[in-house]
Amino acid sequence: MGQAKQRGTKDERIALAKAKMDALRPEKLVCGACKTAFSDFDAMDTRNMKGIHAAFGGTCPSCGETVLAFSGDKDAVADAMIAWQDAMGSEGKLGMQSRSGQHIPFED
Ligand SMILES: [Zn+2]
Repeated sequence: MGQAKQRGTKDERIALAKAKMDALRPEKLVCGACKTAFSDFDAMDTRNMKGIHAAFGGTCPSCGETVLAFSGDKDAVADAMIAWQDAMGSEGKLGMQSRSGQHIPFED
């Protein structure tokens, strides 16, 4: 009997995290601005977001608004939304991404 702690490989942990996130993934996001429901959105990295289990974001196909969904503790979700809004306000980068709905590498 070995005493080594089996914590799984990095790949296994990533796969587990992905499976967990897939389970939390809503079928659709609904745009806060025009109420359009759409299913083309991506999971976001929540490793640095305390209390957030999963986060999803996409671009409304009708009005181009960035739509986000957070899953997790109620307070954490509220904090995440505020933090996200602050980040968007100061950077403006997300707006550029939201128009295409994808991460597009910068090209000169
Ligand atoms: Zn919309």
